[in-house]
Amino acid sequence: MPIGVWVLGDQLNPEQAALAAAVGLDARVLLLESSSVLQQRAYHRQKLVLVWSAMRHFALELRAAGWCVDHQECERFGPALLAWIEAQQLDELWLMEPADRGFRRAIEALQLPIPLRWIPSNAFLWSREAFADWARGYKQLRLELFYRESRRRFGVLMAGDGPKAEPLGGQWNYDAENRKAPPRGLSGPEPLWFEPDAITSSVIEKVQRLDQQRSAQGQTPLPGTLQPFRWGVTRSQALAVLDHFIDTRLDGFGPYQDAMVNGEPTLWHALLSPYLNLGLLHPLEVIRRLEQVGLERQVPLAGLEGVIRQILGWREYTHGLYHWFGSDYPALNHFGASQPLPVWFEQLGGSGLRCLDTVFAELRSTGYAHHIQRLMVLANYGLIAGLDPQALTAWFHRMFIDGHDWVMQTNVIGMGVFADGGRLASKPYAASGNYIKRMSTYCKGCRYDVNQRHGPAACPFNSLYWDFLARHGEELRRNPRMALVIKQLDKLPEQELALIHEAAAQHRSEMVATVA
Ligand SMILES: Cc1cc2nc3c(=O)[nH]c(=O)nc-3n(C[C@H](O)[C@H](O)[C@H](O)COP(=O)(O)OP(=O)(O)OC[C@H]3O[C@@H](n4cnc5c(N)ncnc54)[C@H](O)[C@@H]3O)c2cc1C
Ligand code: SF4
Repeated sequence: MPIGVWVLGDQLNPEQAALAAAVGLDARVLLLESSSVLQQRAYHRQKLVLVWSAMRHFALELRAAGWCVDHQECERFGPALLAWIEAQQLDELWLMEPADRGFRRAIEALQLPIPLRWIPSNAFLWSREAFADWARGYKQLRLELFYRESRRRFGVLMAGDGPKAEPLGGQWNYDAENRKAPPRGLSGPEPLWFEPDAITSSVIEKVQRLDQQRSAQGQTPLPGTLQPFRWGVTRSQALAVLDHFIDTRLDGFGPYQDAMVNGEPTLWHALLSPYLNLGLLHPLEVIRRLEQVGLERQVPLAGLEGVIRQILGWREYTHGLYHWFGSDYPALNHFGASQPLPVWFEQLGGSGLRCLDTVFAELRSTGYAHHIQRLMVLANYGLIAGLDPQALTAWFHRMFIDGHDWVMQTNVIGMGVFADGGRLASKPYAASGNYIKRMSTYCKGCRYDVNQRHGPAACPFNSLYWDFLARHGEELRRNPRMALVIKQLDKLPEQELALIHEAAAQHRSEMVATVA
């Protein structure tokens, strides 16, 4: 009797471990498109199209490669899986270990009639065990240590071999060269987008139908605009995006990584995360290709190292930490923040803050915002306004085209709002309007004044920032990396601080008034 190989929606790589283990065996492959996911999470419309269309395309590609494949649409995956096992008279079910913890729990709860074999994942460079071995050696985990070890272990951008190998160019890190403020008129290259084919169009129609059903049942509409949908949905399209990034953006990737410009939602960013996270691209192939072409073409090392750091460093690190920190991590709430999300988060617009509304509008139209928009606008606002970290994490997960539990927890709970008390980051990424003014074009034309800290026209990022520092001053004082800002806080006259608290309270009460 055949083996069943169930391929999840974020395991769409022909060389993924469960498929690789079944090569040459009597195996049947299953892909399940379950719509009950929407009962737990109302995802951005484009994210549903991306995942479901990519699954349908992947099923076709596997068939063309000679696999026996069943692709099914279903309400809940449990009953559909059990029916498939029975219909196909399977002996055993194989599954590559899911990246998201909750998925494994849900599958284990199904009580299958046949043995279930978990195949260790090969979707990341670092296995969970290898990461745990590394992490055990440190009292305090930091990205920089992990990243250097990754460079050595995988021999990326290194001069020489073995323990004597040194970082190419003599430096591990060129971040200081990569944080330039945007000059007037800064404009990045056009991204590579695709027209929907017949398969994608039929998924778009399905999402329209699901939306109509939701509204007939009195449920909230799905967020985000559905069309134009322009993401790639196949491995060959994902490879084309990688090539396009290398050809048009790699050389310029470095300097303006942190810049935010109206009308320029992508600048030199790679736009690779949706494809990496679905398995359409493997991180190692991306890193090797970037390194090879980058060195051949003598791309500025600051930019090349910058992008490799994101994938070999941050991406692997956040995944490794997600499993290392364990299942209590998502519930952490270091600052005891409890403010519900204002309604403009769900509506993706209407806050009246030009920075937030610009990022919301971009998110609404594609499901994408770049790293600094996520960190220094959205999460920063969540941190200083005291938004409930779990509600904020759930929101990020639903709204982003590349959102998955493994990448969301550490990025939002850890890096974004410091709800883990510093297990990931060495200090909270809190910033006032001054940072946004320096690094973006948003403040010009905003109804708020970025130079004011209090009063009706004051930029809310300013009042919330100083209010946040004052509210948590006692604890933040113990963090040496916060010494400088605490010194500035101490210099504020008491009267001014009182006005700042008033402005922050006023903003918070306006926020609360909009909670649905
Ligand atoms: C609050 C917050 C939420 C985030 N949510 C997600 C998410 O849901 N999914 C997601 O993939 N990334 C997330 N990130 C990380 C990062 O912002 C995105 O990976 C990146 O913006 C994707 O766009 P890009 O492909 O154009 O990336 P680039 O900026 O061009 O970077 C290249 C690649 O590096 C990787 N990368 C860079 N930084 C990170 C990081 N911190 N964690 C993991 N991978 C990283 C991504 O794979 C990305 O494709 C989040 C970051 C923050 C601060
Ligand atoms: S003034 Fe404040 S609210 Fe307005 S765009 Fe600038 S930082 Fe955002």
